[in-house]
Amino acid sequence: MNRKYGALVIGTGQAGPSLAARLAGAGLETAIVERGSIGGTCVNTGCIPTKALVASAYAAHLAFRSAVFGVVLPGPPAVDMKRVKARKDAIAGASRDGVAAWLRALPRLTLIEGHARFESPREVRVGDDVLTADRIFVNVGGRAAVPPMPGISEVPFWTNSSMMAVDFVPPHLVVVGGSYVGLEFAQMYRRFGSAVTVVEMAPRLIAREDADVSDAIRQILEREGIAVRTGARCIALEKSPSGVRVRVDCQDGSPVVEASHLLLAVGRRPNTDDLGLDRAGVRTDARGYVEVDDQLRTNVPGIWALGDCNGKGAFTHTAYNDFEIVAANLLDADPRKVTDRIPTYGLFVDPPLGRAGMTEAEAKEAGHRILVGRRPMTKVKRAVEKGEELGFMKVVVDADSKAILGAAILGPGGDEVVHCLLDAMYAKVPCTVVQRAVHIHPTVAELVPTVLGELQPA
Ligand SMILES: Cc1cc2nc3c(=O)[nH]c(=O)nc-3n(C[C@H](O)[C@H](O)[C@H](O)COP(=O)(O)OP(=O)(O)OC[C@H]3O[C@@H](n4cnc5c(N)ncnc54)[C@H](O)[C@@H]3O)c2cc1C
Repeated sequence: MNRKYGALVIGTGQAGPSLAARLAGAGLETAIVERGSIGGTCVNTGCIPTKALVASAYAAHLAFRSAVFGVVLPGPPAVDMKRVKARKDAIAGASRDGVAAWLRALPRLTLIEGHARFESPREVRVGDDVLTADRIFVNVGGRAAVPPMPGISEVPFWTNSSMMAVDFVPPHLVVVGGSYVGLEFAQMYRRFGSAVTVVEMAPRLIAREDADVSDAIRQILEREGIAVRTGARCIALEKSPSGVRVRVDCQDGSPVVEASHLLLAVGRRPNTDDLGLDRAGVRTDARGYVEVDDQLRTNVPGIWALGDCNGKGAFTHTAYNDFEIVAANLLDADPRKVTDRIPTYGLFVDPPLGRAGMTEAEAKEAGHRILVGRRPMTKVKRAVEKGEELGFMKVVVDADSKAILGAAILGPGGDEVVHCLLDAMYAKVPCTVVQRAVHIHPTVAELVPTVLGELQPA
C-alpha cells in the first residue's frame, strides 16, 4: 500500500520523537518508524538502564564501606542480581512505555513498527508499504561495533545490548575496551562482586582525555581491585576451560587474561548500512556516518540526519539538540546550528567525570596560551565529609581573553558541577565572572571560584 505523509521520521531515539511531535503539532501529517524498541539506545540499552545499574552498584559499594561511616550492618551485604536487573528493567520499561504512549496519543502522528529502507529520495519502504514524504528525517542511531579481531567468531561475548539480559554476577568479566561504555560496566560489575579486567589497546584509558584525567580514573578503578591492561596491541580471543582467554601481548604482565565472560565495548557504528541510502543518493563518510551541514541537511534536499548517525555527536543531549536545531530552522525561522554547541559529556564511573569544552591538550594544540587551575578533591571539604575524596577539578582558561576553554571535574557530583562552567562558556563571559560568584557552602561547586583564582600558566 502507498501512503503519503507531510513528514516522515525514521527512528524513535532521542531526536525523532520530539521532532515528530513538533511537526505533527505544526499541522503536518507525520509518520515515525521504529524497527526495534521504542525509545532507542538511551532508553533501552544505553543511558537509562546503565545509570540505573550504576546506582545499584553505588549502593553496594556504600554497603560494603558502611563501617567507614560508623554504620554496622548485621552481616556482610549481598547483591541480588535478579533484583538489580528487575529494578533496571522497571526504570527503562517505564521510560519506553512513556515514549510509546505519548507518540500513540498525538494527533496527526502515526507510529509504524518495522524496518525502514529508502526506495528513492521521497519514498521509504516498511514491509509491504511504501511511505512517501517531501521531508524525511533520519534518526537511526548506532550499535556496538564488533571488529573482526582474531577469534571473535569462536567465543561468546556480550555487548552493551545483550548485557542488559544478565541477571547473575559473572565470576570474572573481561571488558575489552577501556573507554566510556567499558569503564562504566567494569566498575559496576566489580562492585556487584565480579573479578574484572579491562583490556585497552591504547597506551592509556579514555585516551581522548588529558593524561592526568586518564591516570586518575585508572587509579580509582585499580583501588577497587579492577585489573587494567593497557597497550594491548594484539588482542586475540579463544575459548578456554574457564570461559574465554584474551591474548593481550602487553609489555607488562601476563600475555593472557583468563576470564569467565567477555564484554566487547570497542566503539559504535551507525545504523546506516541497511537503510537504502544509496537509493536516495544520500552521501555517507568512509565510516558510514551521514554527511550533514551545520543545520543537519544531507546532500539531498528534503532529507535531514539527526543524532548519532550523523557523527556530530554521540550522546543523548547532542541528539536532542539536533532535534532543536532542525525544529528551530524549519518551524521557528531561527537559524540555530551545530557549531553553536559546546562539547560536553559525563563519564558515569564513581566518582563521575563531568567534561566541558576543550581538554588542556586540545587547547594547546589549538594555539591558545593557557592558564590552568587545579585542585584535588582531598582539598574539597564536601568531598572529604562524604568520604569520597578521590579525583580533582581542573579548569583551562585562555590567558589573553580570560575565556573559559574547558573543564574536567572528576569527583562527587562532577557531572553536575561542570555546568557552572559550561553555562559561563555559553554566556561567553570571562572567567572572572565565575571567580567572583558566591557559591553555596559546603558544595563541590563552591571551590570552582577558588580554582579560578589560582590559575597558573601551563
Ligand atoms: C551503554 C551506553 C551508555 C550510554 N550512556 C549515555 C549517557 O549516560 N549519556 C548520554 O548522553 N549518552 C549515553 N549513551 C549514548 C546515547 O545512548 C546515544 O547517544 C543516543 O541514544 C543517540 O540517540 P539517537 O537518537 O541518535 O539514536 P538511538 O537512540 O540509537 O535510536 C535510533 C533508533 O532508530 C531505530 N532504527 C535504526 N535503523 C532503523 C531503520 N532502518 N528503520 C527503523 N528504525 C530504525 C533503532 O532501532 C533505534 O531505536 C550511551 C550509549 C551506550 C551504548
